[in-house]
Amino acid sequence: MEDLIIAIVAAVVVVGGGGGTLLVRSRHRHALQAPPPDRAVESGPSSGSSAAAGTATAQPTLAPGTTVTLPPDVAAAAAPEVEKPPPSAGRMVRLRSRLARSQSAFGGVLLNLLSSDRLDDDTWDEIEETLITADMGVAPARQLVEDLRTDVKVEGTRDPAEVRSMLRRELLNQVGVDMDRSLHTARHGDRPAVVLVVGVNGTGKTTTCAKLARVLIGDGQTVLLGAADTFRAAAVDQLQTWGDRVGAPVIRSDREGADPASVAFDAVNQGIERGADVVIVDTAGRLHTKAGLMDELGKIKRVISRHATVDEVLLVLDATTGQNGLRQARVFAEVVDVTGVVLTKLDGTAKGGIVIAVQRELGVPVKLVGLGEGQDDMAPFEPEAFVDAIVGG
Ligand code: GDP
Repeated sequence: MEDLIIAIVAAVVVVGGGGGTLLVRSRHRHALQAPPPDRAVESGPSSGSSAAAGTATAQPTLAPGTTVTLPPDVAAAAAPEVEKPPPSAGRMVRLRSRLARSQSAFGGVLLNLLSSDRLDDDTWDEIEETLITADMGVAPARQLVEDLRTDVKVEGTRDPAEVRSMLRRELLNQVGVDMDRSLHTARHGDRPAVVLVVGVNGTGKTTTCAKLARVLIGDGQTVLLGAADTFRAAAVDQLQTWGDRVGAPVIRSDREGADPASVAFDAVNQGIERGADVVIVDTAGRLHTKAGLMDELGKIKRVISRHATVDEVLLVLDATTGQNGLRQARVFAEVVDVTGVVLTKLDGTAKGGIVIAVQRELGVPVKLVGLGEGQDDMAPFEPEAFVDAIVGG
């Protein structure tokens, strides 16, 4: 029954330059009143940018063929009713059990080995292997073993509590407590901050866009999502569903294969028009040629830069993919300036060492981690909470 009173509001913006028809959609629990007739405008022919075309049309009811203008303020009022998300601070601690399940297994092995009666070369080799098996990478694993060996010599103790705090300290050193993990999502005057989300399909990119929107909404910001992964209709629909769920309008094209840069451009323009704080742009993650990827992401960045600043380029990596994930990271880092990594599915792997490996590989921090499929299962990365999940305590 409730579905019957849900009206789908669609603001249609016509863009030029082959951009196709762009839609801004959100679900609203109350049927909207049609605006006065003088505001009703048919979509005109495309000309120049969407800002120039700027004609928005909407269907205030589900009656077919009804076309009226949807002013930006009405569009804003059409934000869906969603329950207020929890603030992001301390989320990783709250979600620690998700990490602990997988990471403590690897921590337990390390602590056992370190506390063993005979800490000989074979045991140190085993410790190193355990670290490598957890995807930490060979060089960091060697470094960590060397540091631990020095600690053991200097402190001369293998009391379990002391061993745990030693391991904790050295893991924290490797993870890095001083890296700037803040997300740059502050508005620039009348312009929204822009976050580009890149990564290979299947890593959790679309889910990440929505979860991030919800984190930001929980922290009091307004967010618009841009569906620039135009090569998969399903991805656009998926972002739409997520956007409805988390309370972020979605700017999309109705045409599969539409120019992603055009959608990104319109998302940013809409963000400016509606006074959004942050525009998050989902991009295509096809595994095609490096040149193609570079062209596509480069064009998106260039086009957005005409009206706003790209503040963050977040690379989404699936923590369960190990070396393959690192290879993907390398390719993306070569074609675009990645500012932060989002490591998804950390709830599903004991290979948390990838946090260390990927930071070392790219020289950029892990800023967010995915810890499940739910809308609030993402957290700002906190090294201490992460390491505590490994060593217990
Ligand atoms: P995309 O193709 O990169 O956009 O990936 P999607 O966002 O569609 O996600 C792919 C699958 O991974 C979906 O089934 C998601 O529910 C799942 N997923 C995403 N993030 C996480 C996470 O942090 N943990 C778990 N367990 N699953 C996740």
